[in-house]
Amino acid sequence: MKPAYDVVVVGSGYGGGVSASRLSRAGQRVCVIERGREVPTGAFPGRLPELRRELQLNGGKMRSGARTGLYDFRLGADIHVLVGCGLGGGSLINAGVALRPDARVFADRAWPEEVANDELLGLGFERAEIMLRPSRYAKAPELTKYRALETASAAFGQDPVAAPVVVSFEDTVNPAGVTQPACTLCGDCCSGCNVGAKNTVAMTYLPDAKAHGAEIFTELSVSHVEKRGQSWRVHIVPTDEKDGAPRYVDAKTVVLSAGTLVSAKASPPMATSSPLLLAAARR
Ligand SMILES: Cc1cc2nc3c(=O)[nH]c(=O)nc-3n(C[C@H](O)[C@H](O)[C@H](O)COP(=O)(O)OP(=O)(O)OC[C@H]3O[C@@H](n4cnc5c(N)ncnc54)[C@H](O)[C@@H]3O)c2cc1C
Ligand code: SF4
Repeated sequence: MKPAYDVVVVGSGYGGGVSASRLSRAGQRVCVIERGREVPTGAFPGRLPELRRELQLNGGKMRSGARTGLYDFRLGADIHVLVGCGLGGGSLINAGVALRPDARVFADRAWPEEVANDELLGLGFERAEIMLRPSRYAKAPELTKYRALETASAAFGQDPVAAPVVVSFEDTVNPAGVTQPACTLCGDCCSGCNVGAKNTVAMTYLPDAKAHGAEIFTELSVSHVEKRGQSWRVHIVPTDEKDGAPRYVDAKTVVLSAGTLVSAKASPPMATSSPLLLAAARR
């Protein structure tokens, strides 16, 4: 890792992947820092014991499992949240359903003005669709699950629809230049695709960012950011070593894309520095 970059991107999920790809395409020297591991196609858990080894639980003072475990459960007082931990973030373990939000979503006054009335949102969706390529499985009506949904939805007088999913249903070379085999319909999308057919951030935006010069580092957690004159100092610790030596990297711009629980709200492991993080997020 160099001592300084134009941009440091914290986290490598959708927010981080898109930022890294766009900013490196725009000629910025980009460094991506991800707390989790890179999980190559074929190395996702396929059986229950492997799955257990990838589990981490975080709740108040309670924690168990490796800090680089792929499935990161945050236990709250009344709500529990599952987030992905790895190069590609939540995209590694999500269902990949990619729908544009209903207009009512942005009508909610909870959104800041800049988000609710962002005129570039439509363009953003178009560009994301080009990279992530959501598509509906043409033979969905032949699937057992679809037929079960047909029975269930008949009660409402409706037919089910096949949701658009970010899956390659045919062998392809994707827009980031990565070869992807066709989906085998194994149904393991939420434990991690071992075929390589799911169009995750690790298959799309991150290789694109790398091809445009971004440097990507895994198993490093950002502990806090510090304002220093016109630039930022990003403090880093090894994710899974208790006494790993801290280090830092400087950048003119920092993108906080460590997921909602970390970027937007004080939450371990960034809790001690939340005011700085919030200041950075507002900048
Ligand atoms: C099981 C499941 C199914 C889902 N299904 C769908 C679906 O079908 N359709 C849909 O639209 N959405 C779905 N989602 C939600 C979707 O995946 C998330 O909304 C999305 O991943 C959020 O993107 P993000 O970039 O904000 O955060 P994330 O994807 O969570 O990325 C944040 C990244 O930051 C890293 N990070 C966190 N803290 C630090 C730190 N201190 N230092 C460095 N790195 C850090 C994390 O490891 C992670 O890689 C699903 C989610 C789950 C868990
Ligand atoms: S091959 Fe399996 S895990 Fe991969 S996208 Fe298709 S159904 Fe999901």
